[in-house]
Amino acid sequence: MKPRDIALFFDRLAAERPAPKGELAFVDPYTLLVAVVLSAQATDVSVNKATDRLFKVASTPQAMLRLGVDGLIPYIQTIGLFRAKAKNVIRLSEILLAEHGGVVPPDRAMLETLPGVGRKTANVVLNIAFGEPTIAVDTHIFRIGNRTGLAPGKTPRAVEDKLEKVVPADRKLHAHHWLILHGRYVCKARRPDCPACAVKDLCGYRAKTPAATPAVSAGPPGAPGAAPRSSPGPRSARPAGRAPRRG
Ligand code: SF4
Repeated sequence: MKPRDIALFFDRLAAERPAPKGELAFVDPYTLLVAVVLSAQATDVSVNKATDRLFKVASTPQAMLRLGVDGLIPYIQTIGLFRAKAKNVIRLSEILLAEHGGVVPPDRAMLETLPGVGRKTANVVLNIAFGEPTIAVDTHIFRIGNRTGLAPGKTPRAVEDKLEKVVPADRKLHAHHWLILHGRYVCKARRPDCPACAVKDLCGYRAKTPAATPAVSAGPPGAPGAAPRSSPGPRSARPAGRAPRRG
């Protein structure tokens, strides 16, 4: 995608959501970190349901340690991989207390030493809690980067590196949220809503979803308004994720 089109792409997403926000509930960097660790391969809605109860009894590393793994599990057992996540949350709380004075460090290298915290989680925490212009590539951003031609790449890291290069500097802080929300609600995996998309004229996806066609009268074949017997009907969208046109 050309630089001018990329600038327009983000202008349009910004116009749709001038103050984009993530959908995970949290109250401070620690609860954000816990929520993001719990959200791996789970929906924000399912995590918010669990943390709504959990954070009322444990919203600090000290309180989380008092719960312990066995005490934490009942709060999060509706979330996938809850046993491993419970161990990670308790262990990272121990490390925060032992090595960082009980606070979340605003430092990628330190964050990535915590159990359950990889590059994506560190990017989310750095962006949301500390206002750094990082772009955490999740499944939505990976799909949009490739599908539209904005930032093609075979791995999340390749897409992240490309986005780092092409996203205009003044759009980097919110790029992560704009792209995630666009992927979640418009450029969906199975059937992107291309007719309603604000960036459809800039997007390089060749198999854009067609606009719905008006209903055809169900009269007998040959009757006025009836579909001809041999009509192929509207072309259906090809599967999502098809290689985008690069440009
Ligand atoms: S036009 Fe379709 S494929 Fe392209 S960004 Fe919009 S919704 Fe996604």
